[in-house]
Amino acid sequence: MTGTDWDAAEFETRAIHAGQDPDPTTGAVITPIYQTSTYVQEAVGVHKGFEYSRTDNPTRSALHAVLASLEGGAWALAYASGLAATQNLMQYLLRPGDHVLLSDDAYGGTYRLMAKVISNYGIDFSLVDMSDLEAVRAALRPETKLVWVETPTNPYLKVVDIRGVADLLADHPARLVVDNTFASPYLQQPLAHGADLVLHSTTKYIGGHSDVVGGAVIGNEPDVFESLKFHQNAAGAVPGPFDCWLTLRGIKTLGVRMDRHSANARAVATFLQNHEAVDRVFYPGLPGHPGHEIAARQMRDFSGMVAFTTRGGYEAAAGVAGQTKVFQLAESLGGVESLIEHPGMMTHASVAGTGAEVEETLVRLSVGIEHEADLIADLRQALTAAVPAAVSAD
Ligand SMILES: *Cc1c(COP(=O)(O)O)cnc(C)c1O
Repeated sequence: MTGTDWDAAEFETRAIHAGQDPDPTTGAVITPIYQTSTYVQEAVGVHKGFEYSRTDNPTRSALHAVLASLEGGAWALAYASGLAATQNLMQYLLRPGDHVLLSDDAYGGTYRLMAKVISNYGIDFSLVDMSDLEAVRAALRPETKLVWVETPTNPYLKVVDIRGVADLLADHPARLVVDNTFASPYLQQPLAHGADLVLHSTTKYIGGHSDVVGGAVIGNEPDVFESLKFHQNAAGAVPGPFDCWLTLRGIKTLGVRMDRHSANARAVATFLQNHEAVDRVFYPGLPGHPGHEIAARQMRDFSGMVAFTTRGGYEAAAGVAGQTKVFQLAESLGGVESLIEHPGMMTHASVAGTGAEVEETLVRLSVGIEHEADLIADLRQALTAAVPAAVSAD
């Protein structure tokens, strides 16, 4: 998978070409799906760099090359899911007695992995509001080995100052990992802001079409790559060639998709902000958002995730989520189609009763790339249908 050096090219060009030179044997423009588990050797120990597909596969190698290029990292590793990547990274970084700082509204699955699995191995953790740097400083312990940041966060779209957290850790042994799933590398590149490692659920914006589950870790340090690759091969959470191929296909359009997701989300957030049935809107692209300035500094644009609270209580919020037609009622995010969900009953039901509990009037949108007029008309009809009685009763 070597050939033209794409490093000097712009993001959109690298997304289409980095690691994806034409197939050397056939000239195929698109990287083939190397659907093979093993590779013939010319003599014992003499091979073309591939021995067994848990360890390496050419379709996966192409995905590694483009992911590393897009995040500005030296290397990338692809996984069977975002959580498989998280598990492997935590297993590699942490030992009994270590401590982890986790965003207080981290992805629910990350919280569950930490609280119900990793913590069984003598590893302690604290939840911190990472948008408050003083709180991060106060929560750090000498044995903290990992600081896990998400920005923007889920579902409240809080913004964390990546450079600010990296500076706090300058003289501390903890590694800074940024879950960059909500922004994608097109909008935000955490390594450039001082993060040690970047994590993705490629299931979301990177894949972009709601047709594949995957994850990735990207970094710069060569020794971390060697150890992490050892851990991945030892534990086995690798993606199959077809999943890698679907992800590669999604990546080619990442830039144009993120531009449209961001423009549509801005239009939707502005519409919601001016609607009488809506109480508060959470979107880092709105100038009134508390993290707006930091987001404007570390992101190219503000992505497609919007959350809001309705007036009129749970019935109203659940009613809106149940009555949209273009926005489909579903978990997940980052695909070309718009989705709506009620975090309290759906994605965040597992954090009920914890510090990460969400309001019952909260609705979350993954704004897709349909036409903005249809998205706004759909939300308008759902708000009108679900909220008027509730609003007049307020
Ligand atoms: C979905 C998601 C994950 C987990 O990824 P999977 O691919 O579902 O395992 C991690 N972090 C964030 C922010 C996510 O949205």
